[in-house]
Order: sequence, then structure tokens, then C-alpha cells
Amino acid sequence: MNLQQIDPDCSKLRDDEKWKILHEFGHTLGFLHEHQSPARITELTFDDYVYKYYDYKAEWPREVTESEVTNIINEEKISNYTDFDPKSIIMYPIVASCNLERIDIPKNVELSDMDKALAMLHYPRFVPHEEASEWTIEHALDVLGVHGNTRDRILQSRCPKEIYSLFTLWNKKRIQGL
Ligand SMILES: [Zn+2]
Repeated sequence: MNLQQIDPDCSKLRDDEKWKILHEFGHTLGFLHEHQSPARITELTFDDYVYKYYDYKAEWPREVTESEVTNIINEEKISNYTDFDPKSIIMYPIVASCNLERIDIPKNVELSDMDKALAMLHYPRFVPHEEASEWTIEHALDVLGVHGNTRDRILQSRCPKEIYSLFTLWNKKRIQGL
């Protein structure tokens, strides 16, 4: 994890620092870039200008922009993904001139509900934290739309590995439209 942009002398975090910290912790938990999710294909199409943009902004050669921004991650390398979530902390901010849909996506400074729900199904917490008492496994299942037999079995389980497996199986069927 690289947090070199965080100002150690600052008593209050700036928005870009909040984004950086939560984004990097997301990667530590195994989250991959939302803008590289297979679910992004139908929602957001990068314009060729994106390569000029990152060259100017970060001096990234085309290959780096491809590996960090535009390439879609192979489905076989992802255990789970949701519908495209532009509010995800693991999303880069996107400027309208870089995509054909001309959508502006700001730098997200908080976890989205989908981020929290997906994290809960991968790292289940059976007693909610007192500062986030609404975040039960049941609430995570509501956010993700998990219903039927899978929902019942997840709610009865106390085994993180089983919860992960049940959710993954359900989600694969959801993605395939079954
Ligand atoms: Zn990242």
C-alpha cells in the first residue's frame, strides 16, 4: 500500500487523502478497480482522449493507462462483481471528456453501500460494529438483492467460507442471467 500522498502534519484529512486511504485499503481487501469491471462495458466507454489525459496528468505511457484504467479485468480472475457502481471507492474519478457517454464521475470520498455490502459478504461480521449498527449481514443481502434459498442459507451460516461460497454461486447465476 502506498500512502505517500498523505500529509503527516495535517490534523484534518483532505478529500483526496480520504479517497486515497479508503481506495488503497479496498485494494488490500482484494477489491479491483471498478472502472475495469466487466460490468462497466455497457455503461462507460473510454474515449481515446483518455490516453492524452493521463499522459498530461500523470505522465503515464499508454500501457500504464491501459493496465490501470481502460483494460477490462478478465472475468476468470474475479471472484465476484456487482452491477457497475460509479459511487464505489475503488473507482477512479472520470472526467466527461475521457468517455463517449460524457459522464463526469467525481472522486468518491466514502465507501458506497455496494462496497460495504460486498465487503460484508467476503469478510462477514456477525455482530455489527456499534458505530455502524445497521450493517448486518441481512442489510448487506438487501443491498445486493440476494433472495430465496441462498439468502436463508447465508443468514443461518456462521462460517465465513460458506457465506462466501453461497454468495459467489448466487452471484455467478445473477451475472449469467439465470
Ligand atoms: Zn487503485
